[in-house]
Amino acid sequence: MSSDNAIRATRAVPGRAPQQATPGRVCEAIDCETVLSRYNKRTFCHSHWPIVIPIQRGVEKKVAA
Ligand SMILES: [Zn+2]
Repeated sequence: MSSDNAIRATRAVPGRAPQQATPGRVCEAIDCETVLSRYNKRTFCHSHWPIVIPIQRGVEKKVAA
């Protein structure tokens, strides 16, 4: 098969690199030495990030009968 028939893709958003934080950051939780990903903008790792329960709008509350 020749390379002329190769399928080539284009970037969805051309010219835009993913945002990256400073590499080598460590989780801020006590006694946690997890190195955060450069793509993780948060200051805690996944295990120590506080749970955030989103507010659901338009959901009817169940009324106890
Ligand atoms: Zn952590």
